[in-house]
Amino acid sequence: MADYIYTMEIRLTPDQLKGVNLVQEVARTAGVTLYLTGGAIRDIISGFTIRDLDFTVQGNPLKLQKDFERAGAQLAGHDDDVRTLFLVLPGNVRAEIGMAHTEIYEKVGKPPAVAPASIQEDLRRRDFTVNAMALSLNEGSRGLLLDPFNGVADIEAKLLRVLHNYSFVEDPSRLIRATRFAARFHWPMEERTQQRYDSAKENKYIEHISKSAVGHEIAQLAHEDDPLNVVRALEKEEFLKVLHPHWTTAKVDTNGLTQLMKTRQQIVDLGYTVDPSAAVMHFLTAHLPEKDIADIRKQIPRKDLIEAWRDIEDHAKELAKRLMGKEAATPSRTWNLLSSARPEMVLFLAVTARQQSVALKIKNFFTKWRDVQKRLPLPEMTELLITPQLPEYPKIARDVFMLLLDGKLRSHTETLKFLKPFAPPPPPPPPPPRRGRGPKAAAAPAAEVAGKPVKGKGKNPAAAPAAAIPPLPAPAKSAKPEANPKPDSKAKPKSKGAAKPSQHAKPSTTQHPARKPEVHKSPGKKSKKR
Ligand code: ATP
Repeated sequence: MADYIYTMEIRLTPDQLKGVNLVQEVARTAGVTLYLTGGAIRDIISGFTIRDLDFTVQGNPLKLQKDFERAGAQLAGHDDDVRTLFLVLPGNVRAEIGMAHTEIYEKVGKPPAVAPASIQEDLRRRDFTVNAMALSLNEGSRGLLLDPFNGVADIEAKLLRVLHNYSFVEDPSRLIRATRFAARFHWPMEERTQQRYDSAKENKYIEHISKSAVGHEIAQLAHEDDPLNVVRALEKEEFLKVLHPHWTTAKVDTNGLTQLMKTRQQIVDLGYTVDPSAAVMHFLTAHLPEKDIADIRKQIPRKDLIEAWRDIEDHAKELAKRLMGKEAATPSRTWNLLSSARPEMVLFLAVTARQQSVALKIKNFFTKWRDVQKRLPLPEMTELLITPQLPEYPKIARDVFMLLLDGKLRSHTETLKFLKPFAPPPPPPPPPPRRGRGPKAAAAPAAEVAGKPVKGKGKNPAAAPAAAIPPLPAPAKSAKPEANPKPDSKAKPKSKGAAKPSQHAKPSTTQHPARKPEVHKSPGKKSKKR
């Protein structure tokens, strides 16, 4: 039997996994039964990107709002009709916590009667088999997959299949959802589902779509990896105008959107977490009049998306202004400013910047300046015992990086001259060999401590770990912008040439004999031997 907890753990991002644990803890404390459901399960099993986390509880999640907030979640909206909380979990993880419920449709075009239910009943009101699965997160049954409609088999067959014949009649937003999923996954509809779809379309059931479903489906576009493809598919099916009567692909800034998604991928490849949803909405509606944009915004249920989209241009202008000012007068200052800005803003500005200098700074930030880190003389730093074990190492490495960025260390020699005073004193001499033991046995560990490689004994433990990457500013995970980030003035050299350190580790003038760095050879082995 498949181990779905293991699959979940390896497929979710670390932040998503923490999010699952957070929600699980709140539910456990409150004594409610919790399941991971819907698209999250589909994506975990199918291998597609897991965009958000859908949870279902047997109980009323609205009552848990305060508990979630205390645990670190932010409320981004709620739907009182189906008792759903929209949350942002730490690390910018989107989550929905819904109540397990039934939906009874009595009349076409009328909203269903909603009633609390068990998870099994809840799965029956869902749209497609691939979305009608639940993974238990409860003690005793954790890891049990509920798959009453054989969703796993349909994922394997790559098919979209409705759960019953009236699916599109009951909730015509499923027509839009079918089109969206088919465009995203390139999965066709199963034959009978396709027939039901065609007949629902012909009978114009879509006219009965509810307002809240329209809002939900608009917001979903913002999170598509290829929104243009989905929007084109919706337009072809005549559903884009259902989301807003004036919305067509002609209203989309296709160049901007394409550039945005391309740049986003480049940024993600560098290790950043960036949420492009607000920028996606900006480009999707770029050529619509303000009034239409305001109408569209009003329908979206998540206020975090509305606000981010509304403010994106102003925030980008602000960042552009700072990038043209004193705060970004040097490469190192610019680096600090961009490192502390929200990746979402940097992404948006990278695509929209009108000023050449701003565009160039952002380009350098993502390309050229990153190569500067390769100029850190790691082997020599290892020889000097300037390794990550030193408490001052992050600062030293960062200072060198900043000085290299600003061209204040212009050569390898200058860089070494700057670094030498930071070398710590050499390790203490080895203890005298004990009498009575074989000379080899006593000498070997002593020689290792002294930093001499010993034949057959692995490497010098003091020298080995310096292979570590210098601690460049970690990709900011949607970090809040710093008010006034400044480059580290302490690292500023007094004169033009090689900079003089001021207050790191006590500078030592000790010269170490040249030792061969052995940093790249299996550090694991070495530690075992110790
Ligand atoms: P996405 O990857 O686009 O987020 P998703 O399947 O998670 O896909 P959501 O809109 O977040 O889509 O919905 C979560 C789950 O709620 C779905 O997987 C599905 O089980 C159920 N659902 C959503 N909308 C409907 C609907 N109109 N009818 C039936 N079930 C629905």
